[in-house]
Amino acid sequence: MKSIPQNLRLICLYDGAGVENFDVCRIGEYLGQWFGPDRVQIRPEFVRHHLRPHGRMGEHTLESRARDICKTRIEDPAKPLEKREPNPQQLAQERKWLLEGGVNREVFYDGLALQQTYLELLVGEETSLEFVHIVFTNRLIGTWDQSDRRYHARVSIYGWPSIISTTGIVEGPAKPREYYFGLMAGLDEKDLQEELAGRFVDYSDPRLTELLKGYIMQAVLYHLIGEPFCDNPDCRLFNAHWQEQMIRAQLGTGAEFCHRHQKLVRELADK
Ligand SMILES: [Zn+2]
Repeated sequence: MKSIPQNLRLICLYDGAGVENFDVCRIGEYLGQWFGPDRVQIRPEFVRHHLRPHGRMGEHTLESRARDICKTRIEDPAKPLEKREPNPQQLAQERKWLLEGGVNREVFYDGLALQQTYLELLVGEETSLEFVHIVFTNRLIGTWDQSDRRYHARVSIYGWPSIISTTGIVEGPAKPREYYFGLMAGLDEKDLQEELAGRFVDYSDPRLTELLKGYIMQAVLYHLIGEPFCDNPDCRLFNAHWQEQMIRAQLGTGAEFCHRHQKLVRELADK
């Protein structure tokens, strides 16, 4: 862990998730309680925000961004990304989604490649490390795992900027084992969902905003000190691989963080 964290000037939250049960304003208030409301700003979807204010219609047109984002689509989760030229239909889809929001959850994106396309839009003083950029999206994002040679869905990709996916929270961490055993045994998916209600996360889950608070704090910590995770299963910074672990870490005890992180976040917030 680095001993001297970055000074924090502004946390920019980009409201691109477009799902009803995710409330970016509540996330803004949450971060504001820790870091001060003046250091949190809610903005429109990331690409829309960074194309418009600068009026940069040269190399970074909507068309070129849509094209670059298309190239981050994973065609086959068992093969590493091959950046192919998009077909006209895919391109029209991405243009529409950038302009109007709404994304098909079936499309799977390489999270690190997507992050790179976002990074190219950051310019000027906002490239300073005093700014934290957190992009909310409903795109399904994943990372390539060399050990089992396939992509895995992710809730978040931390970095510059950080990306947090409201689809990833449903598709990333594994559901309870009984769910998969039940499906294999031929049980009805809806019945299983009812039986296991509360132990896993679905798209309409009213707890979504609350569940994502820890991921947002992980993104901020990653930016400030390079270490976003905690081993304590009751701390919001726990790196959950199962949805039940995630629900416990985010909603379990009512406490925000373990003692160590409670102290650390306060210290960082005071800088
Ligand atoms: Zn902790």
